Amino acid sequence: MPPAADARISPLGLTRAQYVDACAAVGIGAGRATATYSAFFRDGNLDHPAQDAAPAPIVKRLSEPCDEGITTKFVQRLDAPDSGRFADQGVPHLDIESVIIPMVGRTNRKTYTLCVSSQVGCAMGCEFCETAQMGLVRSLTPAEIVGQWWAATHIEHAEIDNIVFMGMGEPLDNIENVLAAIACLTDHRGAAVPMSKITISTVGRVDGLRKLVDVVQQPGWKRLGLALSVNAPNDEVRNEIMPLNKRWGMAELRDTMVELIEARGNRKILFEYVLIPGVNDKPEHAEQLAEWMSPFLRAEHGKHMGLLNVIPYNPRRDSPWPAPDEADVERFVHDLTDLGVYAKRRRTKGRTSMAACGQLGTEDIRKRTYVPVTTEATQR
Ligand code: SAH
Repeated sequence: MPPAADARISPLGLTRAQYVDACAAVGIGAGRATATYSAFFRDGNLDHPAQDAAPAPIVKRLSEPCDEGITTKFVQRLDAPDSGRFADQGVPHLDIESVIIPMVGRTNRKTYTLCVSSQVGCAMGCEFCETAQMGLVRSLTPAEIVGQWWAATHIEHAEIDNIVFMGMGEPLDNIENVLAAIACLTDHRGAAVPMSKITISTVGRVDGLRKLVDVVQQPGWKRLGLALSVNAPNDEVRNEIMPLNKRWGMAELRDTMVELIEARGNRKILFEYVLIPGVNDKPEHAEQLAEWMSPFLRAEHGKHMGLLNVIPYNPRRDSPWPAPDEADVERFVHDLTDLGVYAKRRRTKGRTSMAACGQLGTEDIRKRTYVPVTTEATQR
């Protein structure tokens, strides 16, 4: 039976089982649906009568060379039903930014990491981050999240090894859609990205972290990678640069992380620390940070439970702070290492094209509405 003309089903954002169910409803059999599903993700094949699958088109592309290859930021413009809804709030288009980052691994193999966005804008209000300056426009759907992988793979022809939720947005502020997107990306009959190659990076919304405690205990989810943006040595500094900390302080955050690490079978997690000159870069800050991290430093089977990634601050637009000097970054990493923290500096890539960490965001969109949950979260 030919599908009805209005039966447009896209595999984007769906697991194979979900796609098969959707196809069954319009009279397409499971065998054919599965074949279409696999061809769509593996070969980029858009050819199917019942699907309207193409992800949002790429409207802008910025490439920048670095030591390890070429970093490419690409922007997809959504033609979603609600695209016009934000125009009177000064948002002419719903643009999604993603970055393809080259890395040369230990064995000299070149791999690519895709940095994806989970929201257009962000509600968390971190002072140092470009995306925060936009406020939250809206959360992305599972299809819009997976569409970034599809575009990187089948339009940009990049071989993506790792996916990190370190683009625009706070993944735990859109947790259901992020988890649905991950279920799609890891489906063996489709994109088949290993769970261990996907990392959620979060400001540390404790309510979301508690949900993850349950999620990672489900079959297949234990290896989901986790990164926590600590960014501060104490509550005083963290309150100043990350408003969310006023709702959930560093002690509660640490307790929840300990629980979460246990729940995922003591697999390592990543800690991130944006080093901002004059804000969180003093020797006593290294000491306080090492102290806060002490539960994660205990060597379990001779291994650290967490790597601390020191990210040299990338100035956002109109930044009140400069980027740190190379020597100061090295000193800070060195101090931490002396204190028993397994710390590494993150190489800066894409800073000129505003594609580096914390630099994603549309220039002409500034200080928009914050979602209620955060208002509540930051005022309590
Ligand atoms: N909302 C998530 C993911 C997005 S940001 C989170 O906060 O983890 C990804 C990383 O970039 C975070 O560790 C964040 O702290 C860092 N970052 C944000 N702004 C930055 C900037 N201006 N320079 C360097 N790193 C930045």
